[in-house]
Amino acid sequence: MTLKDQIIARIRQDGPISLASYMTDCLLHPTLGYYTTRDPFGVTGDFITAPEISQMFGELIGLSLAQSWLDQGSAVRFTLAEIGPGRGTLMRDVLRATRNIAGFHTAIDLVLLDASPTLRALQADTLQGYAPRWIDSVADLPNQPLYLVANEFFDALPIRQFLRVGSGWSERRVGVQGKELTFGQAAPGHLDALAYRLEDTKDNDLVELCPAAAPIIATISQRIATHGGAALICDYGDWRSLGDTLQAVRSHEPTDPLADPGQADLTAHVDFEPLANAARAAGCAHPKLTTQGVFLERLGITARAQSLAKGLTGTDLDALVSAHRRLTRPEEMGNLFKTLGLYPPNAAPPPGFDL
Ligand code: SAH
Repeated sequence: MTLKDQIIARIRQDGPISLASYMTDCLLHPTLGYYTTRDPFGVTGDFITAPEISQMFGELIGLSLAQSWLDQGSAVRFTLAEIGPGRGTLMRDVLRATRNIAGFHTAIDLVLLDASPTLRALQADTLQGYAPRWIDSVADLPNQPLYLVANEFFDALPIRQFLRVGSGWSERRVGVQGKELTFGQAAPGHLDALAYRLEDTKDNDLVELCPAAAPIIATISQRIATHGGAALICDYGDWRSLGDTLQAVRSHEPTDPLADPGQADLTAHVDFEPLANAARAAGCAHPKLTTQGVFLERLGITARAQSLAKGLTGTDLDALVSAHRRLTRPEEMGNLFKTLGLYPPNAAPPPGFDL
């Protein structure tokens, strides 16, 4: 039975489901989910991410985290963590770039969180020699200083969508018509979690909520506020988004999110405001949300590209130049992608941010 047949059978029996429930099945169904069953990255895959575009991304993230570790007194034991590590490329670049920083590597307790057994196996392969261990929930992060990175993790968390109706909200749901999945709307009601969006929306506007995101940030922030550390949360999105940002991508092309459940990547823009609020409530500080282009420039991506360019000619040089552009140019990934930095209020902010 395909995942689509299973979802249709469930809806026929129990009624329409929320978009979050649909996304969870599509991405993480134990045997038929998108991430659970494949390696989706790269030119031959469905999409490409910043660490897969160039080693420079992970190197600069690594140096930013290491600078925070130095600024905060070089703890002799700390968690270096990544959530949603994909192929493990970003962490491999972080580790390579920091290997000459005295005392850093010997202090690392390397921890990864990923829901996909397929990708965990790839991560183990990429990170051979570094002894990572995997946890199933951020609640399992050890009680010690925490230096953490997440790239394109939060955009994969399930969202709910709501249409404004008067001062209430009608949830968008996935139902069935004939043999196909379709979108429908639930009856409108009052929703406390969206009270703050009554100020910047009007009738028929669509807003999104990502219920899983704030609790994850709260747990990470609690570790950092209590024990020290820093987190770099990189993703596409904005402080506060408006409208339908659900996106399905297959073989680098947009596709209908309801057409082939489990066969396409489903993501949504990250709303950073609720993440920043959760971080502050848990005792962390954060600099201004900063665009990826500015963040990487401040960390020295152009100098790094120039140094890498020295040994290169021909297509290798062209590839490096185009990777630098793609990561930083405003019309490419430079503006759409943002970084949120978390740190203890009594420490120096991580480098790279607009203050
Ligand atoms: N950071 C990587 C991969 C991004 S794709 C990169 O930049 O290339 C999203 C990653 O998050 C995948 O590794 C996927 O398996 C993982 N993931 C998605 N949803 C998850 C969840 N709910 N819990 C844990 N891991 C999840």
